[in-house]
Amino acid sequence: MNPIEINDRIKLVLNYSDSLKETYIHEPFFEKTNAYKYIKDCLDTGWVSSSGSWVSKFESLIQEFTGIKYAVAVSNGTVALRMALHLVGVSSGDEVLLPPLTFVGTANSISHLGGIPHFIDIEYDSLGMCPKALERRLNEVAVLKDNDVYNKITGRKISAVVPVHVFGLPAKIQELKKLCSKWKLPLIEDAAEALGSKSRVSSKYIHCGGIGDLGTLSFNGNKIITTGGGGAILTNNKKFADLAKHLSTTAKIPHPWDFIHDQIGWNDRLPNINAALGASQIENLPAKLKNKRILHAKYKAQFQDLQNIEIMEETENNFSNYWLITMRINSDNPQELREKILNESHNSKIYLRPSWKLLNELPMYKKNPCGDLSEAINQSKRLINLPSSPQLILD
Ligand SMILES: *Cc1c(COP(=O)(O)O)cnc(C)c1O
Repeated sequence: MNPIEINDRIKLVLNYSDSLKETYIHEPFFEKTNAYKYIKDCLDTGWVSSSGSWVSKFESLIQEFTGIKYAVAVSNGTVALRMALHLVGVSSGDEVLLPPLTFVGTANSISHLGGIPHFIDIEYDSLGMCPKALERRLNEVAVLKDNDVYNKITGRKISAVVPVHVFGLPAKIQELKKLCSKWKLPLIEDAAEALGSKSRVSSKYIHCGGIGDLGTLSFNGNKIITTGGGGAILTNNKKFADLAKHLSTTAKIPHPWDFIHDQIGWNDRLPNINAALGASQIENLPAKLKNKRILHAKYKAQFQDLQNIEIMEETENNFSNYWLITMRINSDNPQELREKILNESHNSKIYLRPSWKLLNELPMYKKNPCGDLSEAINQSKRLINLPSSPQLILD
């Protein structure tokens, strides 16, 4: 397969001519939105910090959009994960199970609490944590003691499972949920990339992050909506939501003048300016989702006749936001071709990206516990993220 031809086809999808500006994988977009108006309101009124009213407005909009009862807005997705892990009781010395094919923030949030990331393999269709691999690993190393799960090899407590909805493709969350229920392990969904993605459960769709005990979102600049930097904790559990709000605002007891804090809290709330930007962004989310499906269909049609090139798709009973539309090279020895495709595209200022280096291969996580990771190792050689900004489709 010819890398030049592959890049030419990508250019066709993008209506790309060399005079066009540089194209990144996912770019923010503020034209024709209320961003300027809402941020101006913050500046005009002086409410710029997290005490402003846009924070709760933005949270209501997330709740409405996702159908999940509570959303707590915080300063980024990594912090949202750390809070969720803390709420289910992850503490220093505990192991937390997660997939290795994800952004480093998933593992870092565990480490920030003194926890130890323990890697579980992914599966072919969704690129998310593999329920069979999780089951195998639990049967291999886990024992139940007084309702807690321990790793009998390391002696450490296993205190949560964190699957990731990779590139916005929903993971096999119901099967993972069943296993977590069986082992009484808390389930936290890293839905940082999956705002707008959902899975069908009996007759209705449940938004990613709404099946686990908690879910988390990120609103970083490259995500489907952005607040500059930001994140949210999602949950249907009021106790978790109340505690997340309390702990992310320095655990201060509301009082007109006294500074009483009843625990060691964090200063993690999303500032009002960022929340105002978020409110303007979420208004345009349905239109973005629509454009992304059109873009995905264009890529699919463009590559349909190439046997070894696949455009990754949502699996049955799942709806993907297609945050990062992803190409999979199905030939043997995919790395050489991938390198050539990346070189070719970067020369024409289309900045394609390979998927992340597996977290268990990074220096700080090299010695961490892990199950058999053969599918993750296999997939990590084959994936390329394509330009996926919804504004690439112009109305
Ligand atoms: C973006 C992202 C995060 C972290 O979010 P930040 O807002 O950048 O801290 C965590 N997990 C995944 C899978 C992400 O893509």
